[in-house]
Amino acid sequence: MKRETKLIHLGRAAAKKHGIVNVPVYRASTVLFDGVADMDLSNRDKSTRRMTYGRRGTPTLWAVQDAFAELHGAAGAVTCPSGIAAVGVACLSVLRSGDHALFADTVYGPTRILAKGIFSRMGIDVSYYDPMIGAGIEALIRPNTKAIILESPGSQTFEVQDVPAITAIARARNISTVIDNTWATPLLFQPLKHGVDIVVESATKFICGHSDSNLGLIASTAEKWADLQACHGDLGQTAGPEDAYVAQRGLKTLSIRMERHQASALKVARWLAAREDVSAVLHPALPDAVGHEFWRRDFEGSSSLFGFIVPACNRAAIGTMIDGLDHFGIGYSYGGYESLALPQDPRSGRTATKWENPGQLIRLHIGLEDTDDLIADLDAGIARLGAARAASGA
Ligand SMILES: *Cc1c(COP(=O)(O)O)cnc(C)c1O
Repeated sequence: MKRETKLIHLGRAAAKKHGIVNVPVYRASTVLFDGVADMDLSNRDKSTRRMTYGRRGTPTLWAVQDAFAELHGAAGAVTCPSGIAAVGVACLSVLRSGDHALFADTVYGPTRILAKGIFSRMGIDVSYYDPMIGAGIEALIRPNTKAIILESPGSQTFEVQDVPAITAIARARNISTVIDNTWATPLLFQPLKHGVDIVVESATKFICGHSDSNLGLIASTAEKWADLQACHGDLGQTAGPEDAYVAQRGLKTLSIRMERHQASALKVARWLAAREDVSAVLHPALPDAVGHEFWRRDFEGSSSLFGFIVPACNRAAIGTMIDGLDHFGIGYSYGGYESLALPQDPRSGRTATKWENPGQLIRLHIGLEDTDDLIADLDAGIARLGAARAASGA
């Protein structure tokens, strides 16, 4: 079965009994047993999908978990109430006090906050590495290094990592690897097939796809599955049924949405790259992107999120450009049907590398609107920026 067909069928078995097309929202805390013997058996035999308590799983959660695990070729998957909760659970399932962990310098901002804050406070020794380090990561490994955290492409600046080079070294040293695969979804990159142990995604983005839920998903190899399940369960990181429902419904249209995101984002990115007043476009599928060769080798496509750089300008000038856009919202997150634009500053929060580009970075999420409308909107926006810069002499 091809993946597009699989997406249609995955996770739906639980609903077969009543013939309902989508797995319903099962709301549950207490689950009643037939008797003491039934309760004992249900608690003992965890392999059966017998409900025991809401927090331990419902058919709504299993539908999305099973689909996610299957898409990644994983032994199993768990749901979390947000993407950042999933990052936390995945890392804690492989780290303990006294361990050293290496984080890509380009990880999602809140991941860095978690590493610097709670993880460091727990006695986990955190350090950062250049995302383009590849096999050079070997030199950073210490006797107590227990995990390498990847994110590819990187947040804000979209560097694509040489994942197989890093995982080969990690495996040889018995170091666990965790990757944040939110940008790619299981349709564009399957990290477990490239040697990664644990894959995390913020399903908030493309899988839910309509800007109305927060949800995290984690899938792992068989080797890491028991520890991942235990850490997830012990921390009580269960997702709500409405959000899981939204995610499993989102999976049904994920492939066609990603196709449209890809085509539209590429069209806008190429249009920007051809402009004289745009100094760079940071999009993994463009030939001059950092790590483009790894994207070509390992990925099956590109998604909606990328950056472009305009000449440095003051905050008022960037506001003139972005506030006046008709089709781009100003807001966090991505992966929904509506386009978004945000000014970003990659200088802050990097320690292993330096961002030297003096220009102003703007991040775009290209939604499902018509690209001619989006391009005309950006064209007028960049003209406003040029006029504001000229007027202020900047
Ligand atoms: C959004 C995002 C997250 C966090 O997801 P939330 O649901 O907002 O907690 C984690 N990693 C990446 C790369 C993200 O873009």
